[in-house]
Amino acid sequence: MNDSLNQIKQQISELRSLLEDYNYQYYVMDNPSVPDAEYDRVMRELISLEKAHPEFQSPDSPSQKVGGEALSVFEQVEHRVPMLSLDNVFSDDELKAFEQRIFDRLKNNQAIEFSCEPKLDGLAISILYREGKLVQAATRGDGRIGENVTDNIKTIRAIPLKLRGDYPAELEVRGEVFMPKTGFEKLNEQQKEKGNKVFANPRNAAAGSLRQLDSKITAARPLAFYAYSMGYFEPESDIANSHFERMMQLKNWGLPVCPVIKKVTGSQALAEYYDWIGEQRNSLSYEIDGVVYKVDSIELQQNLGFVARAPRWATAHKFPAQEEITQLLDVEFQV
Ligand code: NAD
Repeated sequence: MNDSLNQIKQQISELRSLLEDYNYQYYVMDNPSVPDAEYDRVMRELISLEKAHPEFQSPDSPSQKVGGEALSVFEQVEHRVPMLSLDNVFSDDELKAFEQRIFDRLKNNQAIEFSCEPKLDGLAISILYREGKLVQAATRGDGRIGENVTDNIKTIRAIPLKLRGDYPAELEVRGEVFMPKTGFEKLNEQQKEKGNKVFANPRNAAAGSLRQLDSKITAARPLAFYAYSMGYFEPESDIANSHFERMMQLKNWGLPVCPVIKKVTGSQALAEYYDWIGEQRNSLSYEIDGVVYKVDSIELQQNLGFVARAPRWATAHKFPAQEEITQLLDVEFQV
């Protein structure tokens, strides 16, 4: 190997180990060591080097993995349907390229219907209902194995313990647990008054509040929930073939769904949705860091499939990093 290739290999290895450290602090300790924009910058640098040098690609690279490992203090839950991450676009050109990749893959240039939703800044949860009763809830973990947080999830008022209406025999609901802005500010005030550590942002406050060994602590935290997809379910005949309609089914069965979800056609309409949500961002009662576009037809989703860590049929369109760099404060972590 010549010197410059050796240098690139070395650079890739350094970026990977940096991202592994960031991931550990963020996913396992709920205590980020750098702002998200910096994490995203390092990740993009790694991805572009790996793309240019596929000979150095590795399934162990942080670019190929989801989240962090489940903490062993919690019982482990194996997800029957993996919980993946999302790819990102940061500009209109990247958005058009996302749509073009879908056209190319489907070998069809017909305008596509997308379901559009805010990208909630919390943590992903999978909740299993059997015969309409909440029987298990787990964090995403590394996408394959998550942490059993059933007792803690049961303390969140927005999450029904029993479904309503004509629900399927078995249903895994996936969605985001988050902390509304006012709850977050109040919690940090209380933390300060008690001389406890304050949380860096609502995302970390939500994660730290849910991943507690004592459900009483979770119960005292202002957590909320919006459902955004389904995992495993049966019978299949009960479930709609459109993502948007699935969300309406979840709503009918008693699960909260973000009210600003919209179905639109074509990438121009996606860009308009992004602007529309961007204008409302500050007045929303919860923190978002972008929007998510999902191909609406489940059949097309299945044709498009997945890459290592994310579906090909969805992407997050992130807002530009906030001007002021969030001061990263120590985050309470009590397990
Ligand atoms: P992500 O946040 O980029 O996207 C996937 C997640 O989005 C899902 O797991 C789900 O929890 C969430 N989501 C919110 N609304 C959704 C919706 N409507 N539909 C579907 N999913 C929705 O995922 P990730 O893989 O957890 O994290 C990567 C990002 O996390 C990075 O881009 C970075 O911003 C941040 N991060 C930061 C650090 C750090 O040190 N600061 C470390 C690791 C990750």
